[in-house]
Amino acid sequence: MQQVKRTHAVRCPVCGKGRVIDAAADVDPGRLHLYGPEHADKAELFSKCPKCGLQIGISFEKAGHS
Ligand SMILES: [Zn+2]
Repeated sequence: MQQVKRTHAVRCPVCGKGRVIDAAADVDPGRLHLYGPEHADKAELFSKCPKCGLQIGISFEKAGHS
């Protein structure tokens, strides 16, 4: 039996509609930073919005690093 991990959708920061990625349900959304194409140089990971088609940059703030 495979257990499906609980996740929540992380929405596109540009259009607010597209589901760019899924985050684990216990991840604090405040640790995820999403950038539109104009701030892509700050991002570490990239995905694409299925609604507006823009490249969305993602960076993840490490725990204990403030
Ligand atoms: Zn979008």
